[in-house]
Formats: sequence, structure tokens, C-alpha cells
Amino acid sequence: MANEQIGIQLAYVVAAALFIFGLKFLGSPATARRGNQISAVGMLLAVVAALMDQGIVDYSYIFAGFIIGGAIGAAASRLVQMTAMPEMVALFNGFGGLASLCVGIAAVGASAGTFTLFTVVLSILIGGVTFTGSIIAWGKLSEKLGNLKALPNQKMVSFAVVGGLVVFSLLFIAFPGGDLWLLLLVALALAFGVLLVIPIGGADMPVVISLLNSYSGLAACAAGFAINNNILIVAGSLVGASGIILTQIMCKAMNRSLSNVLFSGFADPVEAAAAIEGEVKPLSVEDAFYVLEAATSVAIIPGYGMAVAQAQHVVNELRELLEKNGAEVVFGIHPVAGRMPGHMNVLLAEADVPYDLLLEMDEINPRMDTVDVAIVIGANDVVNPAAREVESSPIYGMPVINVDNARTVFVLKRSMASGFAGIDNPLFFKDNTRMIFGDAKETITGLIREFD
Ligand code: NDP
Repeated sequence: MANEQIGIQLAYVVAAALFIFGLKFLGSPATARRGNQISAVGMLLAVVAALMDQGIVDYSYIFAGFIIGGAIGAAASRLVQMTAMPEMVALFNGFGGLASLCVGIAAVGASAGTFTLFTVVLSILIGGVTFTGSIIAWGKLSEKLGNLKALPNQKMVSFAVVGGLVVFSLLFIAFPGGDLWLLLLVALALAFGVLLVIPIGGADMPVVISLLNSYSGLAACAAGFAINNNILIVAGSLVGASGIILTQIMCKAMNRSLSNVLFSGFADPVEAAAAIEGEVKPLSVEDAFYVLEAATSVAIIPGYGMAVAQAQHVVNELRELLEKNGAEVVFGIHPVAGRMPGHMNVLLAEADVPYDLLLEMDEINPRMDTVDVAIVIGANDVVNPAAREVESSPIYGMPVINVDNARTVFVLKRSMASGFAGIDNPLFFKDNTRMIFGDAKETITGLIREFD
């Protein structure tokens, strides 16, 4: 092996090790930043080594792509609001899939053997599905696509598309060089991504996001085989495997099986839940303060609304004041709270909330009946008791944080509007619930002022 090849292969090994250490560090909020930096260095090393490996003749396009892509990335990282992060992650997955699809197409050549053509088919299929699936997920998360439901006759259309994918894949491999089969394959893969994600909605989106994340890795892995590049195979496998683990965690959090999530959108719509009985009891900030002042045990349950209000810093201030006042304060974190896995952990870490105060759902639920006040900050679906009590509810069976077991529940939100899943919440009508209407940050700032 020539010296240059040895250097390149060594660089791949170092890059792969950096990816693995990076992933390890990403496992805890305290080390996550370092994990990101280590992985980024690994990626730079991998890209440089891969370029040398491919024997690039002309770097002008690569340089132009580097400048344009780098500029867009740098601008996006500055300009994108924290609340738009989940959508951005969905787009990242999608572009990863598109890149693998393009690499797959580029690997088609006169000399490509059957194995290469097979991996090309895989990178086009998975890459295409990831791309359009992620675009639909982006639209759903940003609420630009509204509440899209399954298309009419979607089951039949989906079967036809899958059949077409199988036939055209075989034709493409059997008769290489036929551009028609390639084009049809790309078109159907793109269509299948749309069909797959359109019917999935409501509370199931976290599973879809993590699954698409895994697909983007698998597509990269297939593309790595197509162009015979080891580091792409390694990086793709790492993303694919960690995405599958995350998907598993999300399914467990929703108490659903993967097939149930993927195919329930095709089922007949569930009957509307029965009307909720009870009375909504609004509370002023001043009165809420008196209750909190007397509390010795407080649980804070954050949700997507805390991200919208950017209330994490004032939430931490309120925690400090409550502790100074003699109360024990913990945070209850639901695995699908917010709009991306770990969303609440990221926000609370940014506000310097000590990690040991963050309790997972399974830890906080058994002690909820000893809590004086549960403060629900912009959470809705993840504290909805309909998941336990209303059999006809679309979220029936999903584990939620049982805030209604606390002595008193404060719900901080702006209106009676529903959450992401679009379903009513009987919590707001319970005897021990008090609604504190308004923007979460303003409400908490008001409470802090009362303490001063
Ligand atoms: P929800 O979306 O159920 O509810 C958020 C609540 O926040 C709304 O009811 C809204 O009510 C309130 N809110 C919005 N802005 C403010 C504000 N400025 N101040 C106060 N309140 C505000 O959030 P949850 O975190 O409870 O649940 C997450 C949902 O998102 C689940 O259905 C989950 O499946 C889904 N999801 C999660 C993903 C993940 O990976 N974590 C990914 C995709 C979807 P109002 O308008 O009245 O203020």
C-alpha cells in the first residue's frame, strides 16, 4: 500500500474514533458541547481524507460548495430561533438523505457491478424516502402543512408504489444503463417518503423524527458501499444505529410499537372523545404566589410552551427563590416534551438548572402524590390524563406525567388551546387545577416579583 493510502486509512480510523467518542460525550448535557466539537473535528478529518481518497482532479466545485454550504450553515446557526431547532433537525435529516441519493446516482457507471448497483438502489430508496419524508415532517413541525391526514385510497396507492419500487429496482439492476428505470426509481422513492409521513400525526411525530434520523444514516451507509468509502459506511452505521435506539426509546415513551405508529394513520379515525365535564378555575399571579409561598414540595413540568416563551432562565430563578423559601423543587421531564428528543434538557441546561434535579417520568410519577404544587409550564399533551382515563382518546395508553396526583396543579398557558396532538385536556377542568393564563415568561416573572 502506498504511503498516501496508509495515511488516508489511518485518518479514517482516527475520524471513526472521534465520532464514537463524540457520541459518548453527547450522552450527557454536561459534556454534550464537547461531544459536538469532537465529532465536528472527526468530520473535517473524514472529509479531507475522503477527498484525497477519491483522487479528485478539479477542486473548484468542491471549494465553491464548501464556501456556499459553510456560509448557509453559519448563517442558519446564528439566525434560527431556538424554537425552530426541531424543524431544522428535520431538514438536516432530509438533506442527509438527499446527499446520499445524489451520491448513489453518481456511482452509477458503465463498470458498476451487481453489488454496486444494489447499494445504489438502497441509497436512492432510503435517501429519497428520507428526503421527502423529512420535508413533510418539517412542514408538520413548523405547522406550515396544517393537520395533513392520509390521502384518499392511500393504502392502495402505497401498495402500488411499493410494487413499483420492487419492479424498477430489479429492472435497474438487471439492465444497467437504463436511465428510465433510474428515473422512475428516484421518483417513486420520493413519492413513498411523502406517503409514509403524511398520515402520521399528533403525538406520534417524535417516533417519525428519530426514524428519519436513522434512515439518513442508513442511506449514507448504503452510499458508502456504493462508492466504496469506509468512513461513510462507519459514519452512516453510527447514525443509523443510534437513530434506531432513539426510535426504540421514543416508541417506549409513547407505549406504541413501531408498526402501530407507522400504520395507524391508515386506520379509520377514532370517534371524538366525550365532552369534558368540570369547570375551569383561573388564578391570578398574586394568589398563585400565596400558594407557592406555603409549599414545601414543588414539581415543575416543562413543555413546548416553555420553549416558545423562552422562559427557561426565569424558571431557574423561580426555582432558586422557592428553594430559598424552604421548598424542595424538582423537574419532571417527559421523553417527548417539546418538539425534539431532549428538548427540555437542552433548554434547562442552558439556564444552568442542576442536572440532578431533572427527574424522568418514571422517577417523578411515584412521588407525585407527595407534591404540594405541580407547576405545568407550557406542557399539554405530556400531562394529559385522557391518556389514562379516556379510552377513545388517540393518546390512550401513552404514559404521561401524572400531575393531577399532586395536591394542587398550576397550568401556565395562554389560552384553552390544545397541544401538538390537537386533543382536549381534562386536566384543565379538574378540581385541584388552577389555570394561570398568559405567556409563561411573563407569568413567572410576575411570580418572581411577588417573592422580592
Ligand atoms: P404541547 O404541544 O402538547 O403543548 C404546548 C402548550 O404550550 C400549548 O398547549 C400552548 O398553549 C402552550 N404555549 C405555547 N406558547 C406558550 C407561551 N408563550 N406561554 C405559555 N404557554 C404556551 O407540548 P408538550 O411538550 O406537552 O407535548 C409535546 C407534543 O409534541 C407531544 O404531542 C409530542 O408527541 C409532540 N412532538 C414531540 C417531539 C419530540 O421529539 N419531543 C417531536 C414532534 C412532536 P397556549 O397556546 O394556550 O398557550
